[in-house]
Amino acid sequence: MTVHHDLHSRPETPPAPGRTHEHAWLTESAHRTSTGLIRYVICPDCGSRRVDRQPHPQVPPAALSRAVSPP
Ligand SMILES: [Zn+2]
Repeated sequence: MTVHHDLHSRPETPPAPGRTHEHAWLTESAHRTSTGLIRYVICPDCGSRRVDRQPHPQVPPAALSRAVSPP
């Protein structure tokens, strides 16, 4: 008979600032330009910001800038 040994293999740790994690980008503001929709997004988990451009409503936004972490 085997004993469960993986109880602590994946602890649920919340994302901390400075850690690599999947940013949950929220659109803070957006405005239209001739090249498409510019979105200013922020990750509420770590406070990082990024600028995305969405050339067409049917196209997923692409990152214009790299994610900038707060100091
Ligand atoms: Zn983040």
